[in-house]
Amino acid sequence: MKSEKGCPFCREDIIEIVKSAPQAMEGLQVECDNCGARGPIYESKEEAIAGWEHGIRGLGGVRQRRS
Ligand SMILES: [Zn+2]
Repeated sequence: MKSEKGCPFCREDIIEIVKSAPQAMEGLQVECDNCGARGPIYESKEEAIAGWEHGIRGLGGVRQRRS
C-alpha cells in the first residue's frame, strides 16, 4: 500500500502493515518496504497508518530493524 508522506528515512512510499515483534508490545505497525523502518505500534491497522503518517516526525516510537 502507499503512504501519503513516504518514509522519513528513505522517501519510499510503499509501506506494509506488519505484526510487531513478539518480545515487544503486541500489535501492528507500519514497515517501510525499502529500508525496513518501522512506525509506532498500535492495535489496529488504521491507527498504525495514522501513527506513521502523523507521528513519525517526532521519531518517538520509531525503531529501525537490525539486520
Ligand atoms: Zn524507508
